[in-house]
Amino acid sequence: MRASGVVFLMYHELELEGRSLCQTDPGYVRYVVRGSDFRTQMQLLSSDGWSGSSVGEAIASFPERAVAITFDDGSETDLLVAAPILSEFGFTATFYITSGWLGRPGFLAPSQLCELSSLGFEIGSHSMTHAYLTDLEEVDMRREISDSKLQLEQILGKPVEHFSCPGGRFDARVARIAREAGYRTVSTSEPRINTPATNRFALGRVAVLRHNSPSELLGVCMGRGLSRSRIGARLREATRSALGNSTYDRLRNTLLRRPKDDGQG
Ligand SMILES: [Zn+2]
Repeated sequence: MRASGVVFLMYHELELEGRSLCQTDPGYVRYVVRGSDFRTQMQLLSSDGWSGSSVGEAIASFPERAVAITFDDGSETDLLVAAPILSEFGFTATFYITSGWLGRPGFLAPSQLCELSSLGFEIGSHSMTHAYLTDLEEVDMRREISDSKLQLEQILGKPVEHFSCPGGRFDARVARIAREAGYRTVSTSEPRINTPATNRFALGRVAVLRHNSPSELLGVCMGRGLSRSRIGARLREATRSALGNSTYDRLRNTLLRRPKDDGQG
């Protein structure tokens, strides 16, 4: 029996056969789950009695045998691949959008974002430019967090209440500014289960990676192995702080030749 609470899954772009990915470096591709694998995962969750919910639903009631399903970045495959599969199994989800990337090749156009919202999916913000927030001065951090909310709300005509951190970079300033900007939650890339006692401005999420097997996914939904992942996440955070974000990213892309977890977002 898992601890009471809800695991938040974190997905990125999905791969559709014959369609090129938004980026091709190894550090990106390992976060890209094949569309066919995503369907298998949702089918398995459904047949095992799980429901897929949005962040708003998850924190409202922390339902039993539920996972929150989230997507970062705002890839066009959110609408083309994820949405129909989620709907097929009666699941919902939260899509965190990098507002400054709307309309770029491979990413959602504003009209597609509205369509995704009208299908009943929850829309959150993933900043304006996908800058690593912890590198920024407060004025720039505020712009990334607050202006992206306003921009998305203008497009959608409804409130945007949830934020996720680009690259998983998170600190107390991010939480404070998000709260001041009117968000109700912040999701990080810290792999832990969320309970009613969890700080809503530091929610955990678990990345689903390209190489993860369906049984690994079920284990994650049960909360298995998360404390070990958390130690890995803390080590990475310490390395990032020591090296700086840009050096860390260059090094990571050089070293990434073997499947190993990393806390992107
Ligand atoms: Zn991202």
